[in-house]
This record gives sequence, structure tokens and C-alpha cells, in this order.
Amino acid sequence: MAPKSIATLPLLLLGVLLLVQCQTPSSPGPDAIIAAASRRGLVDVRSVVPGVVVDLRYATPGNVAGRPLYPGDMPCLIERRTGQQLAQAARELASHGYRIKIWDAYRPPQSHLALWKAVPNGNYVSAPSVTLSMHCAGAAVDMTLVDANGRELKMPTEFDHFSPKAAADYTGGDPEVAANVAVLQQAMRRAGFSTMKTEWWHFWNPSATPHVAIPSDALGIVLPLHVRTIPNHRASR
Ligand SMILES: [Zn+2]
Repeated sequence: MAPKSIATLPLLLLGVLLLVQCQTPSSPGPDAIIAAASRRGLVDVRSVVPGVVVDLRYATPGNVAGRPLYPGDMPCLIERRTGQQLAQAARELASHGYRIKIWDAYRPPQSHLALWKAVPNGNYVSAPSVTLSMHCAGAAVDMTLVDANGRELKMPTEFDHFSPKAAADYTGGDPEVAANVAVLQQAMRRAGFSTMKTEWWHFWNPSATPHVAIPSDALGIVLPLHVRTIPNHRASR
């Protein structure tokens, strides 16, 4: 009896593993997420901003948290009016020969909470106990500029480089960096965006309403995170 039980043990384990795998929710895919997002006032950035380059860093482990904060097939979503304003900025930047490259736009509140845990510094990440980021309402964007060949322009720092060097009013000694950050900041301000003193790459839209976070489950997004409840749903900055 005992040898037979031992022989069936691997089969039993395989069955349990398959059962667990079947119960793990899978992503509905970008098209279904985009359709659900449209019902909540968000649009796919690629559909509104011509020539945009999308490189969502929080969909990969290549970010400050060192792990994906949302799914690898996450579409780049933005609040509808904010997307129109971003398209306006893109047209101005195109006159300089530049295109927009986006690192983050809509960020699920749970992902923001995970980012806060990685960077618990209110100078750079909104403290969830006080307010969520405007990213959570789809009304903020982290971005840089690329040239006609898709090469990133020289900027003050890399993305998510949390130090005084990342200030929007660059005061370093490199005239090329100063010119690049100035053309980006000016185009975004003219399109109605507000800037953030501590991060040259962050822009948010004060005219987007309402400033309320959109939960990921409302869009059918399956996150690679286990996060408890979100402390509030107000978003700012
Ligand atoms: Zn940002």
C-alpha cells in the first residue's frame, strides 16, 4: 500500500498545481482593457497622439521597484481630454523634429501603492494616505523626447532618478540638456499641463476632471501584485 501511495504522489501534486493555475485570473488582453477604459473616460494614447513611442517601465522589472507593477501587455491609457492636450504638445514638438516617449500614463491605484512602498518619499511619489497621484486618474504622464531615429534626447537624469538632479528647472552646466528640457517643459505648459519641480519627466493636467482614481478592476486589469485596500480615491498632482 505504502509504495503505491508514494507512486501516486507526483500525480496528486501535478493535479493540485493544475488546479491552482486554472484558478489564477488571466489578463483579458489590451483590446478588452481599452474598451472598458473607454467607458471610464480613458483612451489608448496611440490612438490620439501621432508618432508616440510607448515604453511603459512599470510593465517590466526595469523600474525603481525592481518588479512589474502592472501587466506586461498593459495598454498606455490616458484621460480623454488630457490625451488631446498631449497631442497638441506632440504637434509642437514635431516642429522641432522630436517625438514623445511615454514611460507611464494611467497607473492603477494598487500599482501606485506598490511604488510608494518602493519610494516612500513625498517629494517624488504622492503619499497614498494623503492623496493618490493624478496618474491614477489617467491625467498625468511621465515622458521624454526622442529624435527622428527614436533615440532619447539628453535630459537631466534617467527616469525615476530621485535626486535633486531631476529638478525641472535644470541648472547644470550642459547647454544641450538645458535646451532639451526647456523645449519639453515649454511645449507641455503651452498645452495646459502643470509641471513638477522635483521631476522633469512628470506632467499633470489641472483641467482634467474629476480628480478621482480609477480602480484597475473597473478596467479588467489583472495586476501582478497582492495589494490590500486603497486608502482613498482622491488624486492630485
Ligand atoms: Zn509621474
